Amino acid sequence: MSNNIKHYDFLAIGAGSGGIASANRAAIRGAKAAVIEAQAVGGTCVNLGCVPKKVMWYGAHIAEAIKYSEAYGFDLEQTGFDWARLVQNREAYIERIHGAYHRGFESNGVDFIEGYARFVDKNTVEVNGEQITADHIVIAVGGRPIIPDVPGAELGIESDGFFALTERPKKAVVIGAGYIAVEIAGVLHALGSNAHLLVRKDRPLRYFDKDLTDALLDRMELDGPVLHTHTDVSKIEKDDQGLLEVHTSKGECIDNVDCVIWAIGREPATDDIGLEAAGIEMDGEGFIRTDKFQNTNVEGVYAVGDITGEAQLTPVAIKAGRLLAERLFNPEMPNVHMDYSQIPTIVFSHPPIGSLGLSESDAVEQYGADDVKVYKSQFAAMYNAVTPHRALSTFKLVCQGENEKVVGIHGIGEGMDEILQGFAVAMKMGATKADFDATVAIHPTSAEEFVTLR
Ligand code: NDP
Repeated sequence: MSNNIKHYDFLAIGAGSGGIASANRAAIRGAKAAVIEAQAVGGTCVNLGCVPKKVMWYGAHIAEAIKYSEAYGFDLEQTGFDWARLVQNREAYIERIHGAYHRGFESNGVDFIEGYARFVDKNTVEVNGEQITADHIVIAVGGRPIIPDVPGAELGIESDGFFALTERPKKAVVIGAGYIAVEIAGVLHALGSNAHLLVRKDRPLRYFDKDLTDALLDRMELDGPVLHTHTDVSKIEKDDQGLLEVHTSKGECIDNVDCVIWAIGREPATDDIGLEAAGIEMDGEGFIRTDKFQNTNVEGVYAVGDITGEAQLTPVAIKAGRLLAERLFNPEMPNVHMDYSQIPTIVFSHPPIGSLGLSESDAVEQYGADDVKVYKSQFAAMYNAVTPHRALSTFKLVCQGENEKVVGIHGIGEGMDEILQGFAVAMKMGATKADFDATVAIHPTSAEEFVTLR
């Protein structure tokens, strides 16, 4: 090997959640590690996903608190809302996170290489015209939003474009039915846009427990955003004023729109990283499928995070990346791997949805109706019970077998985003309904519903 070729024990392509976590852990375990990134450090989560979304959601939360404040005795006059200031503060926060990541690399001894990596062969990538070799290479390049093939689709933006907005849209149409569509439509609505959510089937978040989405639909009907079901977009046009007209499959036209946002899913960013040069296989959609150890079909090449097509969630990429590094460089953990079952997840809707394990319908399908028992409660959370916005929260346990093992925990309501994590530990430990019942409630909270269900 030529002396001027840099060589590493471990190389991560992509400095998003999975790449950063795996490179840091590899270095902590003594490996000479580097991470290559063409864009901002932190990947989708930090720059164009979880982090800016959560900041916007907190902004929306404050807007809702102002709405509720009158019932709490305040006489507030909201004279304005400065979207640009919120975005500026959000981006400054993200800048500080970038700094923290770089300091982390420095203290762990990880080299950060700025540039776009392409495989030359299974142990070699080229970046900025230079070749770098590594014994182990993990692909963690993530994904990007899909724009459909509809006339005028390019007049819309996607979630990346949403985070680039410098002013609040007056009237926005969000198309899609997943996490991103629900979260963006909810934020826009709460922050004062006239927001419309277009879904092509009967409801958004169809794969979540139906009681949760029923409650979400109730809340949308009561409060917004405006939900259009069974609605496809047939074309988008621009009017004389430069505003957009969204034409639907129902023959309707939503006009005077200043922002159309596509949120119909994400595709893997594998097309331009030279996978064929290393013989790495993709599936039909461009995802790199791995075995449970994150191995691709090529020895010494691994994949973690959204690129694998598995649960596209930051903590999943982080855990998979760290466990991969442990397996490779920690002799005490030669067989560790990510457990992709029982992944808790939150949709930052209004109010948030939390879900873990089997929905009622999945449990019935898996175990049969006779073997499944469901405990459910609907209640007005105290926070909004004293306001005119008395929307109901729904909490639900799905139990299976004679000893009523908890196989699903689901809820929609204020605070659900913070409630689920602890219960996820209980479920991971195999808790039964009796264990939940044996736990003393914390009063007055919404969380206590989970240990008092009858
Ligand atoms: P999702 O894959 O979650 O949802 C997209 C949905 O849009 C599809 O399920 C489909 O629902 C609908 N859809 C697909 N094609 C079309 C179309 N042509 N026209 C209209 N609707 C369409 O994608 P997202 O982009 O929302 O999110 C991607 C992933 O990112 C998520 O799966 C999640 O893993 C992650 N994420 C997680 C978040 C969190 O943890 N809070 C937040 C944001 C993203 P249907 O079939 O019902 O129409």
